[in-house]
Amino acid sequence: MIFKPTYVFENISAITPAFLKRKHIKGIVLDVDNTLTTHNNPVPPESSMKWLADVKKAGIKLIIVSNNKPPRVVPFAEILGLDYVANGKKPLTSGMNKAIKRMGLEKSDVAAIGDQIFTDIMGANLTGIRSCFVFPIEPETSLPFRIKRTLEKPLLPKRSRIIKEER
Ligand SMILES: [Mg+2]
Repeated sequence: MIFKPTYVFENISAITPAFLKRKHIKGIVLDVDNTLTTHNNPVPPESSMKWLADVKKAGIKLIIVSNNKPPRVVPFAEILGLDYVANGKKPLTSGMNKAIKRMGLEKSDVAAIGDQIFTDIMGANLTGIRSCFVFPIEPETSLPFRIKRTLEKPLLPKRSRIIKEER
């Protein structure tokens, strides 16, 4: 099903390097807004910086694919020291395909992480890679987002699917 994530986590910090290794995930296509930090927040929280350091240390490749514009994405990617695709156009597959190519990996070795069903999860499914859904860090306040979140609600994964692992 096009809206169904492969894996479900409470937040990005819950996705352990051990889990990624066990699932043979060698590269990650990363969303920014409400996955790594709150919407349009230029500063990543300490928890995201620690998660990135742990995943990098495990030898897993990372690249940002965001639908947001370059002025939002570029400085943020630089703080994190990550390659990026801005204007990613998710759920269209062009941005994700470009990112997979840049990592030099097979689709079967890549998973996307994101907080939106209609962009991140649908995009990963259309691209043919696995997906990790994380619940958004904080609800957005703008009207377009409130509409999107309302439409998305019936498609959200059940909380019983949340994977919890010891760190
Ligand atoms: Mg997002």
